[in-house]
Amino acid sequence: MQYMVGIDVGGTNIVCGLVNERYELVGKLKRPTEAALGVDHVLDKIANMIGELFVQFEADRTRLLAVGAGIPGFIDPERGVSIFASNLKWHNVDVSGRLNAKVGVPVFIDNDVRMYVYGEAMSGAGRGAGVVHGVTIGTGLAAATVVQGELYYGSGFMAGELGHIAIPGETTPCGCGLTGCLETVVSATGIVRQAKQALERGRESLLRGPYERGELSAADVSQAYDEGDALAIEIMEYTGQVLGTGLSYSISLLSPDVIVIGGGGAMAGDRLLKPVRETLSRSVYHGYLERLTIRQGELIDDGGVIGSAAFAKSRAEKLRQTGEGII
Ligand SMILES: [Zn+2]
Repeated sequence: MQYMVGIDVGGTNIVCGLVNERYELVGKLKRPTEAALGVDHVLDKIANMIGELFVQFEADRTRLLAVGAGIPGFIDPERGVSIFASNLKWHNVDVSGRLNAKVGVPVFIDNDVRMYVYGEAMSGAGRGAGVVHGVTIGTGLAAATVVQGELYYGSGFMAGELGHIAIPGETTPCGCGLTGCLETVVSATGIVRQAKQALERGRESLLRGPYERGELSAADVSQAYDEGDALAIEIMEYTGQVLGTGLSYSISLLSPDVIVIGGGGAMAGDRLLKPVRETLSRSVYHGYLERLTIRQGELIDDGGVIGSAAFAKSRAEKLRQTGEGII
């Protein structure tokens, strides 16, 4: 049995998982990232966690094939460099090279969303499908596409910024510098913003309680939806329609077999997917829809770790076959 270690490097926590060659998670460890203590501190911590995984879960360290790490922000996966990660304060960090020197096996990195979608494509809701398009809905919205087991990058590794297409009629400033981007509506942040704006205009709603306590969340909107709250239903309907419009572009360009919805937004389930499907039935050529399945992610918590491990396995095998690749 060979092993990979998959790592999800977040702004708050690092999760390291020991994954076997069947993409099963053997065990995982979670530690605070402590990015403020510097890149060396974070990379040393990851190297120590990798060592601990093999001790704690009683696996043979000599069977470690490769390490994969999903990192937020802009990544050059060919060179293994984190170009810019705002919440880690990383600029041009040679993660693959520096971590390889500490752990002695090839290290492959990519953007955290691409790693998650790769995990769903290889071992989750998209397994067995040829073209898998994945969308994660959290504080923002991002997307990635796996074509026959390979991530599609586009020029400059930029493919998948679906969150930043302009939605007609929307004017909210976006973190990217544009206004009215899709993720200003379709995200936990966007759902809460829509609710707050309606409440500030005086709308009556079950959401007023959590709003006045200063703790209104997207989960509250889901709960109010289930209780028949008119404002919550309107927000979910509109958010689903906007997501449907975004996906209609993806579908026409990519003709995916499966669309996987991941991130915290996947928890909204049919509250969001029902208006998505209605929008698609009106705005996409039926030939696409006959082939297409839209599913919630299966690997919500572990997708980043399993995806990073699967990505590392794929890259390491390619490196072994061709002598090309990273490290
Ligand atoms: Zn934007």
